[in-house]
Amino acid sequence: MKRILANDGIDAAGKAMLEKAGFFVETTKAADNHLAETINNENFDVLLVRSATKVTANLMQACPRLKLVGRAGVGLDNIDLTYAAANDIKVVNTPAASSQSVAELVFAHLFSGARFLQDANFRMRTEGDTKFAALKKAYSAGIELQGKTIGIVGFGRIGQAVGSMALGLGMTVVASDPYIQEATLHVHIPQAKADIPVNIKTEPLEMVIRKADFITLHVPGKINGKAVIGATEIKHMQTGTVLINASRGGVIDEDALLVALDQGKIRFAGLDVFENEPTPRTELLTHPAISLSPHIGASTNEAQERIGLEMANAIIGFFKED
Ligand code: NAD
Repeated sequence: MKRILANDGIDAAGKAMLEKAGFFVETTKAADNHLAETINNENFDVLLVRSATKVTANLMQACPRLKLVGRAGVGLDNIDLTYAAANDIKVVNTPAASSQSVAELVFAHLFSGARFLQDANFRMRTEGDTKFAALKKAYSAGIELQGKTIGIVGFGRIGQAVGSMALGLGMTVVASDPYIQEATLHVHIPQAKADIPVNIKTEPLEMVIRKADFITLHVPGKINGKAVIGATEIKHMQTGTVLINASRGGVIDEDALLVALDQGKIRFAGLDVFENEPTPRTELLTHPAISLSPHIGASTNEAQERIGLEMANAIIGFFKED
């Protein structure tokens, strides 16, 4: 029987599928300094992680029995892919399973910021009974999303899911991606049994930045160690542009963002990811014009179930071929 250590957990549906296929699945987390010992002493063949466990070259070298590392999610930055490839350790992830959830979180931040909810929720708790009229006035100049232009930077799986949702809301979609020339988005209206295809041609980043009222980033990470949106890009934006980052910390230059928020160049920002996770800087956490979440893009029941099942299928497939 093949043995799997799901060190950051696995959804119940994926675990059940693996167990039905004859695998043993352990979900008790081993601390970083005991991980190699646990894998070796308990004869695990597969290590499953999310983003918390770091799968370093040292760990893989210390565990010669490991044949497969599974990353339940998209990014593979916590796994030493070079070592794994050189040592015949297969690495699998679940790239598509969380796109809808991340896209929906982007709109949660957009709708929140458009009506000051990140600040209103906070202040209504403490001042709602004494300063109701003042708060009502403070939040009286909200904005709508319908009819506005959303600029999507990184037009892959999540970027396209965001685009489809934006079209459904009556927004204009512009996108930038050096590796994708065009993509066909689909607006699904299940009640009308309708599926409307819309073709979007990507444009250079600067054009997207100049046109957009709302900009959302869906790139793999920093590009050549640099933020994709820094002071120069912000200069090209319209005054009052909105910026959302649910991709990776560091993709927006946090210093430049804070300056632009304070100058009113950026109306509000929505951040799910931060340069210094898990200790984001205080100026971001306390800023009234930033809608915040603690890296929860893929954290829905639906995405976790899809991730678990996709991962279970990948593991079962791997050992069938083996
Ligand atoms: P993807 O690979 O499908 O899409 C990324 C796109 O970015 C690709 O089309 C690529 O061509 C494009 N790209 C690369 N460099 C670019 C550049 N300089 N400018 C514009 N586009 C560029 O990936 P995805 O599944 O859409 O994921 C996107 C990001 O979301 C990743 O960083 C991933 O780690 C992150 N993510 C975050 C969460 C979360 O919890 N917040 C969850 C899942 C994924």
